Amino acid sequence: MTNCKNCLAQQVIPLFSFGNMPLANRLLKQEDLSLTEPHFPLEMMLCTHCALVQLKETISPQSLYDEYLYFSSNSNTMVQMAQKTVATVLNNLPEKDATIIEIASNDGYLLQHYLHKNFKILGIEPAKNIAAFARLKNIPTISEYFSTHLANQLVKEGMQADIIHANNVLAHAPDINDFVQGIKILLKPKGQAIIEVPYLLKLVEQGEFDTIYHEHVYYFSLTALEALFSRHHLIIKNLIEIPIHGGSLRLTIECNQSQSSAALLEKYLSHEKKLDIHSLNYYQPFIKKINNLKSTLKELLYSIKQQGKKIAAYGASAKGSTLLNYFGIGAELIDFVVDKSPTKQGLYTPGNYLPIYPPERLITEKIDFTLLLTWNFFEEILKEQFAYREMGGQFIIPIPQLEIK
Ligand SMILES: [Zn+2]
Repeated sequence: MTNCKNCLAQQVIPLFSFGNMPLANRLLKQEDLSLTEPHFPLEMMLCTHCALVQLKETISPQSLYDEYLYFSSNSNTMVQMAQKTVATVLNNLPEKDATIIEIASNDGYLLQHYLHKNFKILGIEPAKNIAAFARLKNIPTISEYFSTHLANQLVKEGMQADIIHANNVLAHAPDINDFVQGIKILLKPKGQAIIEVPYLLKLVEQGEFDTIYHEHVYYFSLTALEALFSRHHLIIKNLIEIPIHGGSLRLTIECNQSQSSAALLEKYLSHEKKLDIHSLNYYQPFIKKINNLKSTLKELLYSIKQQGKKIAAYGASAKGSTLLNYFGIGAELIDFVVDKSPTKQGLYTPGNYLPIYPPERLITEKIDFTLLLTWNFFEEILKEQFAYREMGGQFIIPIPQLEIK
């Protein structure tokens, strides 16, 4: 039996297996198509001691992130959310001499909103190609993986943070205890870390199974997070739920032990306890929902195809890869995938090798139905695809409820 990656207890049990899956963000070049694509087991486990849902096997970060194709700035929603977050932080910060560090700073989509202030700013972004874009925007960025080692090194260089941002990265850290200890080291005694993680309860309740892929090693409840931070003598000062990525938690973390937010935490912890998140029972309806969606979505796509209509997909995303590969949907149903990101266009999707084109192709190829794989940005995308919808094109939205719009 394996140990829990959070509490180290030997109480980790199988929750759900996707079987062998390709790496969800590893888009293929034409010359890759004749080679054997690597597949790895994708198995979810549950720690019945601390309630952390986690993957059984982890892939080395280097093979996942050294070259990355996800640019946060390609989503207006992400940039606007970041701008709002920064505005809130600025309301509570002294005017000068603050140090702001972001872990997984991507292309500078968030730190750019601090540039007009005279702050010390540092982005930490392991993907070299993406870090280069941030530097073009004058955001100092180092290409490293975050760890206690890096945190100690930065402190030695005189860098300690008033604010650390870490959005959507805690779930990716192979060793979360080392990661959180690194945050503790890097924070000034009165500093704050603002950490966003997708919330396990939203994933389960809304059937967001497609956010499960090799990069996401952990799926956090507040129960598991509380155990994690308190182990490293950090307190959750505040938390709010935000709609990003299908439902996330934004935590404000501090070192100051005297100020706890006991009532708010207790509300979440007792709710999670009542739901029985430590037990497989809680997850059974979720697993049933995945398999129901598999059959109803495939039936829908086959019936559209039988009417001689054309289907494409929108969003060459990691979650799209999980959905298509686990459901076994490929070229027999979907003609191609479109994506706004120029770095993805011309490549092929993992597992099923669908070509990726610019979104205009939906119109020029007169596509009748488009399966929206990036359903978490559906409002933004449906607005952008106004012309396609005017032409009579329709979107099939698979999650949280299968619907046509
Ligand atoms: Zn555990």
